Amino acid sequence: MNYTSTRDSSLRVTAQEAIVQGIAPDGGLFVPVEMPSLTEEDLAALSGMTYTQRAVWVLSRFLTDWTAEELAAAVEAAYGERFEEGDPAPLSRLEEGKYLLELWHGPTCAFKDMALQLLPKLLPAAAKKSGCREEIVILVATSGDTGKAALEGFMDVPGTRILVFYPQEGVSRMQKRQMTTQRGDNVAVTGIRGNFDDAQTGVKAIFGDEELAAELREKGFSLSSANSINWGRLVPQIVYYISAYCQLLADGEIAAGEQVNFCVPTGNFGNILAGYYAKQMGLPVKRFLCASNRNNVLTDFIATGRYDRNRAFFTTTSPSMDILISSNLERLLYLLTGKNDAETREKMDSLRRTGVYQLDQRELSALQEEFSGGCCDDRQAADTIRQTFERYSYLCDPHTAVAVKVWEDYRKETGDGTKTVILSTASPYKFADTVLAALGQPVPEDDFDRLEALEKLSGLPAPAALTGLKDAPCRFPEVCGAGEMGERVRKFLGQREAQ
Ligand SMILES: *Cc1c(COP(=O)(O)O)cnc(C)c1O
Repeated sequence: MNYTSTRDSSLRVTAQEAIVQGIAPDGGLFVPVEMPSLTEEDLAALSGMTYTQRAVWVLSRFLTDWTAEELAAAVEAAYGERFEEGDPAPLSRLEEGKYLLELWHGPTCAFKDMALQLLPKLLPAAAKKSGCREEIVILVATSGDTGKAALEGFMDVPGTRILVFYPQEGVSRMQKRQMTTQRGDNVAVTGIRGNFDDAQTGVKAIFGDEELAAELREKGFSLSSANSINWGRLVPQIVYYISAYCQLLADGEIAAGEQVNFCVPTGNFGNILAGYYAKQMGLPVKRFLCASNRNNVLTDFIATGRYDRNRAFFTTTSPSMDILISSNLERLLYLLTGKNDAETREKMDSLRRTGVYQLDQRELSALQEEFSGGCCDDRQAADTIRQTFERYSYLCDPHTAVAVKVWEDYRKETGDGTKTVILSTASPYKFADTVLAALGQPVPEDDFDRLEALEKLSGLPAPAALTGLKDAPCRFPEVCGAGEMGERVRKFLGQREAQ
């Protein structure tokens, strides 16, 4: 299976090259040239398998230059002991036709683990085979969840080092604690005096700094990225859409061939796009519901066909969805325009220059045929957390609550009774302050008292990955200016060399 670029359809690379390079040389995103197929017979066979077996099956369709043994070993290592016992992505049935797909049973309690536990297991072999002799240095700018998941994924992976930058004032206390206590000999974490955009701009500047790149190459280092535009982040996410469907089949909740809806709390459009790829393969999906918080650029886009990032940015209680440029939308545009690279390039250019692009009528109809958008604010999300707990004794995190609310609104508006899987993207314990407040409870000052309070209320044990941080020493207290990030990279790599 070969890959091409959304901005140049004549390009051909292997899956390994796509994953090692991260982004195409023309600035486009790597996409598969053709879509592997998934038939009703395949789904029936997959229904009888475990999650890891389903994962190997799906991955082997897209990642054709790894052997079946390599994929099986990577999948076992990824979803084995670092995940809580049992199914790594269990379905929880709230009532008939309404299911939550829990994607937060990994080591950092958010859905990013589903891909970031697997990608580091695939990358070193790929780098070697595609002729990369250098040590891979992963740079990450994070608003909270990605940084920690990438650190856990790459911790002590041979041939790699990872440096994470986070906005000093822009992540939650628990997220900061998760990152600054990170274990491992090949990791470092630095706070930035600035916001997430400053951190992201700084990382992009480092990637574009030819002088630094040459200096690093000379020392035997090659920069790479683990953010969600990397194809290696998307393909493990396709697995859980297919697996959820198979689980519904296996549990007798749906009949063979029956269509379902998926409702996805969305930021960078990576998660929901993976579902769309599953549908392209042949998964029976009627509609994707794209759920946003107050940063509702995608809701407007799906309603009007006009993407306009020139708007106020809001900080919300679902911070991982606080985003105005959804990078992975470029891959959907490529498909909506009939794989038209020139048109995709033009739209992305317009976005960069003016912050706006517009679909034509045909593209908009194609989009609306398969996607609906919806949004809600923090108060509505909090009400949903409370109502879901009262009605089902089920505790959901603020990101998941946005999706639950958007699904309820959609259902009321359209009367569409299609059975729906709502993706649950974080453990409620990761956002214990917001969840406690939503339930009308006092919010203790100390992070761990909060976990305990939530535990008492729900009877659901707090994840050991969070309670275990209580006595973990802070290893990375340092903070730097946004202009000093290049220096920080030099220091990180120099330091390790001296050892
Ligand atoms: C990253 C994240 C999202 C958004 O996912 P995208 O792939 O960026 O759309 C939603 N919820 C949580 C908890 C996340 O960490």
